[in-house]
Formats: sequence, structure tokens, C-alpha cells
Amino acid sequence: ARLGRITKAETTCNYCAVGCRFELYGKDGDVLGVRPADPEATPANDFSTCVKGKFGYDFVDSDDRLTTPLIREGEEFREASWEEAYERIYEELSSIQDQHGDDAVAVTSSSKCTNEENFLNQKFARQVLNTPHVDNCARLCHSSTVTGLKQTVGYGAMTNRINEDIGETDCYLVTGSNTTESHPVLATRIKQNARDGADLFVFDPREVGLAEHATQYTRTNPGEDIAWINGMIRYIIEQDLHDVEFIEERTNHFEELEEKVDPFTPEKVEELTGVSPEELTHAAETIAEADTCIFGWAMGMTQHAHGTRNVLALANLALVTGHIGKPGAGLSPFRGQNNVQGGGGDMGPAPHNLPGYQDQLDDDVADKFADAWGERPPQEIGLRLPEQFDAIVEGDIEGMYIMGENPVLSEPDIRGAEHALEDLDFLAVQDIFLTETAEFADVVLPAASAAEKSGTFTNTERRIQRVRPAIEPPGEARSDLRILCELAEHFGYEWEYDSPADVMDEIADLVPIYGGVSYDRLDEHTDGIQWPCEDADDPGTPYLYEEEFNFDDGKARFVPADYAGPVEMPDEEYPLMLTSGRVLYHWHTGTMTRRTQVSMDHVPESYVTIHPEMAEQLGVENGEYVRATSRRGDIVVKANVADVSDPGVVFIPMHFAQGAINELTQHELDPDSFIPEYKVTSVRIEPL
Ligand code: SF4
Repeated sequence: ARLGRITKAETTCNYCAVGCRFELYGKDGDVLGVRPADPEATPANDFSTCVKGKFGYDFVDSDDRLTTPLIREGEEFREASWEEAYERIYEELSSIQDQHGDDAVAVTSSSKCTNEENFLNQKFARQVLNTPHVDNCARLCHSSTVTGLKQTVGYGAMTNRINEDIGETDCYLVTGSNTTESHPVLATRIKQNARDGADLFVFDPREVGLAEHATQYTRTNPGEDIAWINGMIRYIIEQDLHDVEFIEERTNHFEELEEKVDPFTPEKVEELTGVSPEELTHAAETIAEADTCIFGWAMGMTQHAHGTRNVLALANLALVTGHIGKPGAGLSPFRGQNNVQGGGGDMGPAPHNLPGYQDQLDDDVADKFADAWGERPPQEIGLRLPEQFDAIVEGDIEGMYIMGENPVLSEPDIRGAEHALEDLDFLAVQDIFLTETAEFADVVLPAASAAEKSGTFTNTERRIQRVRPAIEPPGEARSDLRILCELAEHFGYEWEYDSPADVMDEIADLVPIYGGVSYDRLDEHTDGIQWPCEDADDPGTPYLYEEEFNFDDGKARFVPADYAGPVEMPDEEYPLMLTSGRVLYHWHTGTMTRRTQVSMDHVPESYVTIHPEMAEQLGVENGEYVRATSRRGDIVVKANVADVSDPGVVFIPMHFAQGAINELTQHELDPDSFIPEYKVTSVRIEPL
């Protein structure tokens, strides 16, 4: 709607996957402000947005925005026309593929972008470039969630709703999530409900903000979660608190679980994890006896070399207690990026499945896509993101196309990622800023931000919601969707989409869980549609597995989680355990929030949180700069002395290019999901 020169759009937040909706106001190309949308709306924020949602839009008007295509000339970039930039990309990628084969090129997609853009990104990889190597940033945050939940319950997604289930449950187990900082509006739901009497158990190495509202906060040793979760399951079975009817009627393989959890006595759990028998058994009893329970987690559980097993253990706990498939209960991964569920998962920019988690090795599925596209997608498993970087070093990948990602900061080995990008014959990046990654590119394409384009995001509760533009993109910047369509044309493909709505129609045709989604319906249902939504008469699915799990026999599967601890343990040289996470005022690699005033005012630089006793032992004062060193590198960061963990545990946020934690982290991968071990690193801290 237009009010003079002020423009307004009802849209969805571009930070986290809670998916708050609001009215975004613009004027003369600048964002003016945000107002929460329809107070009756179902999604999470019927009362507010968090500080990032409300004040985090300075980056849109930043002078750093890319406004024209750039082409590298020596050490510098020069401005170029769109035509020249597209032609260069076409020539370089085609030449690499002619010389080295189609799979010498890899594509990276982004959960910041819309569903439609992610769908077209993987189509560009599979149809236009004919390469199986397409992946996205979900590999680095919740791929272990997807892998674990697919094995146990069928869909790699949150099973329940935010408001009606997370907001109304009787009991919570929240672990590996700093919810008040990473998913603030969702955390408010939990805090309110806990104040009203719900039991809240927080298990975490750090005393995160939610702990203040908890019935019981339990400090755990970093990386030892399988042990205490298996211990809870063992205790629940031993005390006959498990849901026998649910287990018999709705699950398979319970006996295998019983056997595998047997060694995890309360004493063994205490030895491994620091969790006392009293804390373990009290939480286990309360969870098992509650009418409903929500199991919430984030990257503290997923970003481990055994991340999938952590998720399997949580799924087993939910199944053994029967807390799934009914209102107020469920498995609730708190996904990160605004559109990581949709763009990073559902749309299939992943090397092992087609959109909608459809098996690309299945001939019927491949035939369906071949009929629609006129080309059969590659029927092989491509390389996951960290493997793509290894393949560059080994000379197997020579060209890369990156949409909206910043792997130079997000890959676990920054120096390795930089060297890999330097080794490439050709790199194209489309983004809104000249990111740390774009600086390595041969061609950079200026993209529109979420405030400037149309599409859909799918939030962490599988809710598909509209994104609408409040202002025009700056200069010559274009939406990622338009860029992909125009680029495909340079490769000889006529993609005939008049609008993102047309792309959604194709998604609905090819992806059964989105089968009934259309822009007409989304405009009518302003609170979005939760998938699976199979046809135009399907209202969507608020919570999963009421009748059956997503397997042929309709039954969930217990998949026991074998014990694994941290890959790297402290020793004399590196005596401290470093863990990482988000802070309220910043977002992921900081591309947006490091250009946002309110974020920089509150947290202007990286830091390391050190326990007061350890700070005294090390001779470190609050606010002074220290060196953090791991087996892989060292960084200089400011000391923040605070009592939020054991003295042997320190914390560094993930958002900064200076003092970047990924100079220290390790490249060890989870063998099931290929997520790197970000969460436990041995370090030493020294005063400068
Ligand atoms: Fe945006 Fe998440 Fe904050 Fe909601 S909670 S306003 S979605 S960052």
C-alpha cells in the first residue's frame, strides 16, 4: 500500500526461524521501521518482535550495499554491466565443465533467501549445470537434526507449533539452546508458560538466560549429551515410567534401545557429564509423568561430530515417554536462519535429496523432475559443503557459484576455506554485500535484501509465510530469483516465470508436502500454511504424527544413540574447553548486524567469556585483550569475565570477522550428517 511516499509491506522477519511477521515501512528507498502485524495472527509474535526484528534493518540502507555487478581485474574489482557479468559467468563455468566435466562445478544456496530462490538455485545446479554438488548452510547448523529425525520419526522438521504447543505445554526439556538470545520471541513463550507453572528443565554447559526461569538448571560437560539423555531413558524404563501403550502401538525396535541405554546408570552419567543422580532422576521423572512435554534444542546439540546421535537420543526420549503426535508435545529443533526449514531443507538445495526430501536415486522421482524440466537431475549423491572445500583443494572442483553464503567465516576452518577459494579457477558470488567470501570472487552480483523482494519463508514450525517488498533494491541490485532466471537464460534455458508465484506453482507440482500451497492461498491465510499441505483443500498440518509416523508402516523407529564424547579434550597445552554461540544483538556471520547500529552499539566486537576464578588464575582482567590459541590457530579478543559456566569452559560468539572463532575450531565431521564439530575445542587463553 502507498501512503504518499511512505510504503508499507506485511512481511516476515529475515533474521531467525521463529518467523515473526510485521509491517515493514519504507520511504525513498530507506527502511523507516517495523510494527508487529495483526495481533490475532497465529505465528509467534502476536505481542512483539525482538530487538533484531524491530531495530535490525539499518543494513538495508548501508552504504556498503552492492549496487552494480563487479568483475575482478587483478587485485581490484571494476563495475560491469549485468550482461557482461552473466556472460563471464557463462563462459567461465562452461569452460571448466568442458575441460573437467560437469561435476567440476559446485553450487551453494542460502537459507537467507526465499523458498522460490532456493528452489531455482538447486534447479540451476541440477538442470542447467548438471552437477550433483549443491548444498547450503543448513549443513552447518541443523543437518544433524534433519538426519536424526528422518531416521526416527520420518520428517526432518519440528513436529509441533510454537504458540499452541510450545506456548501451552506442561513441561520442557531445553538443551543446547541459548533461546533467549537466539530465538527471543519463542523464548518469551517459554518464559511466560514457565511463570504460569510449566516445568522447565534446562541442560547446558552455560547458564543461559532461560536457566533463570527454570525449575531446574543442570550444568553439563560440553559434548557429553548422549550420556545424560540415555541415562534419562534408562531411568524412565527402569522405573516403569515409559509409555508402554504408545511404544507397543506406535514404535519399532524398543528392545534394541533398552539394551543400548543399559550401561548409563545415574552414577555413570555423573562420571561422564557432571549431572548428579538427583538432577537426572528428578528431570526424568517429571518429564515422564507430565501430560505433555516439549523437547527443544539448537546448535549446542547439533554442531558436534556426533550431532546426529544427540538428536537420535532426544527423539528416543520423546518416543519412550509418548510425548509426540499430540497437542502440547513434540520434538522442537529451534532452527536458525529465517528460511532454513524451507530454503535450506524443503527446497532441496542439498546433495542427497531433491526438493521435498524426495530421493534422487528413485527412478520415479527422477522421472517426475525430468518430465517437468526436460532434463533428468543427476542421480548421484553430491558433495556436502565441507567436502566441497576439500574437493577444491584436491583439484576435483574448479568452479563455484555461491548465493548468499559466507563460508569464509562459517566454515570450521577459515584458513582452509580461504586457501580453497584462492585455488578455484572461478568463483561467482551473489550477495547484498562484498562479504569476506565475495572478496575472493571473480564476479560479484548485487542482490536485493528481504526488504526489497517477494517470496515465501518457511519458519521453524513448518509455516510457509509471505515475504513482501517495502522498498526498491538499491542501484542495479536485483532479486536472487531474477538473477537466477537471467543467468539460466545465458546458459540457453528459458525459465518462464512471471513472478515468484509461478515458481511456487512449480514447487507445488513437484513437491508433495507443498502440493496445496499457492500465493492465492497464502494471501488468504495471512497466518501461513504449515506443511504437509498436499492439495488445495488441505488446511495444512499444525502438528505431525497424530495418526502415523512418516514411514510405510506408520510406526516410529527407536534408533539407539551409541555413546560418543568430545573429539578434543583439554590437555596441558590447551587446558580449556571453548564453546560457541549467538548473542541477542547479532546474527550468524554478522554480515547484516555488523552493519546495524543497535547491534554494534551493544556488542561492537568479539570477546571471550571467562569464569572469574579462571581469569584470576590466568591473570586476566575484565575488558583487557587476550590471545585464544587452539591447535589450529589463534585470535585476539576482549576478555569478558562472568560466572556462567564451569571455570574450565570459555565461550566466544560466532559473529565476528576480527577475532573469528572459526580460526580455532576443528574440521572433524559427523559421519551421518557431515556437520562439523563447532562446539568443543581445546584452547589456552593468555594475557597479551
Ligand atoms: Fe525476527 Fe526471530 Fe526476533 Fe522474531 S524472534 S523478530 S523472527 S529475530
